[in-house]
Amino acid sequence: MWTETAQKRIETVQRRPAWAPAIEAAGIATWAVLWVAFAQRALSGPPPSFMVIMVVVLIGVAVADFMSGLFHWFFDTFLEESTPILGPQFVAPFREHHRDPLAMTRHGFLELNGNNCIVSLPINMSVWWFAPAEPESMLGVLGYLLLLAFSFAVTATNQLHSWAHEAARPLLVRLLQRSGLVISPGHHARHHTPPHDTSYCVTNGWLNPLTDRLQFFVYAERLLVRLGVPRKQSGA
Ligand SMILES: [Zn+2]
Ligand SMILES: [Zn+2]
Repeated sequence: MWTETAQKRIETVQRRPAWAPAIEAAGIATWAVLWVAFAQRALSGPPPSFMVIMVVVLIGVAVADFMSGLFHWFFDTFLEESTPILGPQFVAPFREHHRDPLAMTRHGFLELNGNNCIVSLPINMSVWWFAPAEPESMLGVLGYLLLLAFSFAVTATNQLHSWAHEAARPLLVRLLQRSGLVISPGHHARHHTPPHDTSYCVTNGWLNPLTDRLQFFVYAERLLVRLGVPRKQSGA
């Protein structure tokens, strides 16, 4: 006899396109190879001070948090699950997440982490191709450091978001959540209050007070609607 969780896991597998796991695995592997390559490039240049490293890493993580809100808001607000290509792979997980917030905690490693690696690839591959392999200036080293922090935080975002919904979490995760370094269940619960239109940032939520106070996503939505981008017609 199937448990409810097992049944839902089967429904998730059936919903996913058959090609999704292969694309996600390729995306994760390529992301990992490029990240290590960037780390080697950063280490080949002049070393920055510890304080400078910390500041650059914090900026990279904050930018990743903002980007998590930007993508989350866009896919929550525009496009449909039936949109060709983007719909089943990128829009559906956001719709599913409002209908069933615990669904992502049942996703496997590839489904949880693949999409963010895939969306990082255009930036990472461009940098790998065009940026110097051995940065001779401090600016070059800091650029790689910024990308390493940003890219790592982007890739970790779905796992961090999932932990904000998971009842059983490792002690280290609970400590990180309590410290505010990663998104906490209490903070993220604001987004799951209908109509789901605040606190979109889900890496650590550092940018949520600012974007909510400035109503950044409200104005961004008005701008895109004026430019002719159709709002989603389906419910949450
Ligand atoms: Zn949402
Ligand atoms: Zn959530």
